[in-house]
Amino acid sequence: MTRPVAVVGGGWAGCAAALTLAEAGVNVALFEASRTLGGRARATVLDGRPVDNGQHMLLGAYTTTLDLLNRLGGHKTDRLWRRPLRLDAPPGFSLVCPRWPAPLNLLAGFVAARGLSWQEKWSALQWSRRLLAGLQPPAGSTVAVLTRRQPARVNQLLWHPLCVAALNTPADAACARTFAAVLRGALGGHRTHSDFLLPRCDLSALFPLPAAERIQALGGTVHTGQRVRAVEAGHDAVTLRINDTAPGFSRVIIAVAPQHLHALTEYIRELDNVRRMVAQYTYQPIATAYFQFDPGFRLPHPVLALTGGPAQYVFDRGYSHGQAGLLACVASAAANLPNGWIDQVEAQLRHIVSPGPVLWRRAIVEKQATYGCVPDLPRPSVGTPHPLIFLAGDYTAGPYPATLESATMSGVQSAHALLNSL
Ligand SMILES: Cc1cc2nc3c(=O)[nH]c(=O)nc-3n(C[C@H](O)[C@H](O)[C@H](O)COP(=O)(O)OP(=O)(O)OC[C@H]3O[C@@H](n4cnc5c(N)ncnc54)[C@H](O)[C@@H]3O)c2cc1C
Repeated sequence: MTRPVAVVGGGWAGCAAALTLAEAGVNVALFEASRTLGGRARATVLDGRPVDNGQHMLLGAYTTTLDLLNRLGGHKTDRLWRRPLRLDAPPGFSLVCPRWPAPLNLLAGFVAARGLSWQEKWSALQWSRRLLAGLQPPAGSTVAVLTRRQPARVNQLLWHPLCVAALNTPADAACARTFAAVLRGALGGHRTHSDFLLPRCDLSALFPLPAAERIQALGGTVHTGQRVRAVEAGHDAVTLRINDTAPGFSRVIIAVAPQHLHALTEYIRELDNVRRMVAQYTYQPIATAYFQFDPGFRLPHPVLALTGGPAQYVFDRGYSHGQAGLLACVASAAANLPNGWIDQVEAQLRHIVSPGPVLWRRAIVEKQATYGCVPDLPRPSVGTPHPLIFLAGDYTAGPYPATLESATMSGVQSAHALLNSL
């Protein structure tokens, strides 16, 4: 093959795809519009302070992502801090699941849980056991329907916040089948799959940058700050329109977010159906509010759940990033944030801890953080009707919602589909 292969988009999906191709000996060129690799999971700077565009958490069930990190060198897994599953919503609720095989992990967790009555624990346990045993929610049903017989407190403290965190979609709109797949993946698989993994470095340094280094070491090229204006496809080559140039490639993996697909592929008739699919998507914001308190302040645990909205979780980056006193509060499915929502988040924090005066605070709102994970959402496969064009991204067909794991799984799958076509 004379011409190289192009990957458009340097998020986690594009980096996973380009890395897989480079490792298979393919001459690959990765193009990213931004100067920073990582897309929706990237490093950024606010008022001179290094942060991420949004606080992220991974699960032990993210096997593709963890495999990629391992391939980049065993030591790279030191960039993640692994903790057994633990959900604390002070002052009243705490659930700690030991690393035991399912369903013993849940049994032990619910028996010892604080803040639920015995009847509530029993209902939650029975419900989750049925789900882990393979109960498939009816097609088209929402998480609110799936959990309608659960006690209100269990939904309020456990299932619904987990749904919002995992699917970035409120329970009354979220897809029950995808939620069930997430719970099965995390709680019903290997006993380490339920672990929470917190990045210990910024999100670009966690995977996209080491991936880019390796791609280049293997002879590939990585072009940041290079927006591809259009992809044009012929019978035996693909052309990318970049500024005034139009380099040719033998094949392309398009790894942009679904909302950017249309403009890039407008003239490729073979992708009409894919564009029609993603035109149906709605998008959900995620807001992250950073608060710097005195460096001597620490939360009792690295992650706590917050109740009473708008934020659902607070992360102490002192534990994970060595940024003492810096808290990241995350509000998922954050459509219609009221004016003054950061004050409300601060009040949520002060309801559970006494951190002293705020020294600095800033928020980042990612308006189209993920697509809304609603029932029966059509998700395209990585192969397209055009033999030279492949897709990658967290929206392509797969078991999980829009997550880092969906993105990397899709990137690896897309690269393999391309390799099979050579
Ligand atoms: C605030 C926030 C919090 C989140 N929290 C979590 C979490 O805790 N756990 C979790 O697993 N997931 C989380 N997610 C979801 C996760 O970040 C995404 O699912 C994942 O990053 C998507 O990766 P991707 O590669 O599919 O897409 P993207 O990251 O969107 O990558 C696409 C890339 O293509 C580039 N691009 C677009 N157009 C062009 C063009 N014309 N030319 C060149 N390049 C182009 C973009 O700049 C971008 O870098 C969160 C997302 C957000 C926004």
